[in-house]
Amino acid sequence: ATRPGLAPREVATHCPYCALQCGMTLREDDTGVSVHPRQFPTNRGGLCQKGWTAAELLDHPERLTTPLLRDPATGELRPASWDAALDRVVTGIRAVQQDAGRDAVAVFGGGGLTNEKAYALGKFARIGLRTRHIDYNGRFCMSSAAAAGMRAFGIDRGLPFPLADLGRADTLLLVGANPAETMPPLVRWLTEQRRGGGRLIVVDPRVTATARQADLHLQPLPGTDLAVANALLHIALTEGWVDRSYMAERTTGFEAVRRSVAAWWPARAEQLSGVPVADLEETARALGTGGRVIILTARGAEQHAKGVDTVTAYVNLALALGLPGRDGSGYGCLTGQGNGQGGREHGQKADQLPGYRRIDDPAAREHVAGVWGVPADELPGPGVPAYQLLDSLGTPDGPRALLVFGSNPVVSAPRASRIEGRMRDLDLLVVADLLLSETAALADVVLPTAQWAEEDGTMTNLEGRVLRRRALRPPPPDVRTDLDIISALAARLAPDEAAATEAAARFPADPAAVFAELRRASAGGIADYAGISWARIDGDDGVWWPCPTEDGPDTPRLFAERFATPDGRARFHPVDHRPAAEEVCSAYPLHFTTGRVLAQYQSGTQTRRVPALRRAAPEAFVELHPDLAARLGIDDGDPVRVTSRRGELCAPARLSAGIRPDTVFAPFHYPGAGRANSVTNDAVDPISGMPEFKICAVRVEKA
Ligand code: SF4
Repeated sequence: ATRPGLAPREVATHCPYCALQCGMTLREDDTGVSVHPRQFPTNRGGLCQKGWTAAELLDHPERLTTPLLRDPATGELRPASWDAALDRVVTGIRAVQQDAGRDAVAVFGGGGLTNEKAYALGKFARIGLRTRHIDYNGRFCMSSAAAAGMRAFGIDRGLPFPLADLGRADTLLLVGANPAETMPPLVRWLTEQRRGGGRLIVVDPRVTATARQADLHLQPLPGTDLAVANALLHIALTEGWVDRSYMAERTTGFEAVRRSVAAWWPARAEQLSGVPVADLEETARALGTGGRVIILTARGAEQHAKGVDTVTAYVNLALALGLPGRDGSGYGCLTGQGNGQGGREHGQKADQLPGYRRIDDPAAREHVAGVWGVPADELPGPGVPAYQLLDSLGTPDGPRALLVFGSNPVVSAPRASRIEGRMRDLDLLVVADLLLSETAALADVVLPTAQWAEEDGTMTNLEGRVLRRRALRPPPPDVRTDLDIISALAARLAPDEAAATEAAARFPADPAAVFAELRRASAGGIADYAGISWARIDGDDGVWWPCPTEDGPDTPRLFAERFATPDGRARFHPVDHRPAAEEVCSAYPLHFTTGRVLAQYQSGTQTRRVPALRRAAPEAFVELHPDLAARLGIDDGDPVRVTSRRGELCAPARLSAGIRPDTVFAPFHYPGAGRANSVTNDAVDPISGMPEFKICAVRVEKA
């Protein structure tokens, strides 16, 4: 929007979308806001299409600029004052809690919220609402790698080394990761790696944009990545490529893993996964005999009911080869959401308190309660993981009110039609968002929030590097920050004026004050931010946690000398293949898998409204192999229906020889008839709570 007479200004900040958190400069003058890439270690002057167009939402005509209340007479959402909207929220919360107890209110957060918001939301749930029910959409993102990392290394940081290490690797194995579409500037590291003579090997059921660049592409049946990893370790053991002195000095538990992979003869893995023995052997040789070797996993390995075990199989492989902690080598996970890393460190997970502390650990409760100024026994216990929480909404034993911040589960949750129904059954649904997402459209109260260019705060990128988000301009007059909303709700929930003043002080709206408290709450925890100040971040290209003291070093590289376990050794865990929660059968004979496209981000609430991105990826599609399409009488562009036991999706067919003939794919960014999550399976991993987005059984027909 033009603003005649506005003095030009600019600010150095980061892209609002994915975990790469590309550096950008935002400029505003009387012609509007423009995005300019800047040199930052992760993107080195590059941006993808999403970053380039991020500022287009600031003055977007569909932006929410006033609270909305559902009119009981007409059932429509109507503009309202903040007083009326907040009163409705507080009245609804009180009524539900008086009737059904504190846990009748639940909070659902997001992996795109700043560290300060994630922290404040967790604190608000635990001591503002005093409910145990809080979780967030990161549970759908990389909770399986988080759990695998914790049990192997005693710490969960996506990359335990700088991203730049990728460019130096002799062999790079990418499992279920497609950065060429999800975070394109990262591809420059891959290009450099190959220019330097390195080999890129990709494991993916589809010939993705990343797989096309690979020296070797393993194309397993969805759900068999674990077997592939065990076969690779089997070969490495047989050939003597494992690092026995590393294992003896730095790990425990290998013997059980050795026994479990003994049965994974390459021929057996080929029979199950479809990956030829020769490719398995070539991959194992590249990993076992290369110099600097990095293994990375992402959603393709994680989003399974056996996601933790699948990631663990690749961690086992990395440990047996002696990679973690070795210069230029290692295992890592590519985080997806913008603050996917920080979002899970500060207490918006059902089982965690700030600092990545367990909520059932008495010492952790004492520490955090002390920072919050409440008795430890007033802190609620653990809640339930995201899908379980969403699936219990409105049921006799589940929460009857839900507050959603920065998430759109009506599109992003598995078995989404059922979750949508659960939300309709609530007594009170409150959504804080910048746009009327599909979840917000169901709400009783919608609270308009500030955008990334209108607020300060910190984000933690996929490397564990803490970054500054800086405000270019204030939010529009009737729009508030999430922190402001949390502070206002806490004050209004107080029983009297004195308590309201105290509550407002306890939940400050100022992000600098929240970060100062977050540092104290995290001190001594796994994700220790105690030594990270905004000034220190400003003085450098971010600060890496753990960073316990202001004058001490931060930690770009983990595990050089010890792992974060009590004895300093990494833990092997034997894991074995098991079938997907739902196998193909005569009624549902095809595998269905989901993923992302270049021009859209997550549930698409933001990117579907950006004209250039909408033009590039306007609607859902169903990707099929031409042989399968011919068998089903389907031509390119024909409308097709994909049906599972849970629901269906209808979208145009897109024929591609890059997908297995036994598998169909759809992106998950779209609502309505093209909603991929109407079809997906809600089976979850027993450890991480991760739903099985990556495989279920379907039938496909011309619609
Ligand atoms: Fe960078 Fe990700 Fe933003 Fe694209 S979406 S510009 S890759 S941070």
